[in-house]
Amino acid sequence: MRGENGAGGDAGTDEVRRLDTATTTDARDPIADRYEVPPEATAFACPRCGRPFARERHRDLHLGQDHGDLGPDERAAYEAARDGETDNLRRFRIVSLGLLVLLYFGFLLLYAVAG
Ligand SMILES: [Zn+2]
Repeated sequence: MRGENGAGGDAGTDEVRRLDTATTTDARDPIADRYEVPPEATAFACPRCGRPFARERHRDLHLGQDHGDLGPDERAAYEAARDGETDNLRRFRIVSLGLLVLLYFGFLLLYAVAG
């Protein structure tokens, strides 16, 4: 069984090698294949890996988190995007907590009146 895999593996590795050389000629093709962007949509592509993002802020966050070597403009954009994201997360937590408290006391009041 092992020899059978080895014999079949040779043909498979040739195929893989041929695919590798085909894909390494243009590094952006696999990314474009993986992420489908509608033709009428505006996409902000990462300058390092080519991954498209719907919003510029998301691309800036991706740059800071996935690519370490940022220029001064990219670093400033990342920090601004991170601060905006932190504010949104804080707002989401406060609203979530408020809804949970409202739900808790709503059920408590319902239980007190109807139970
Ligand atoms: Zn990237």
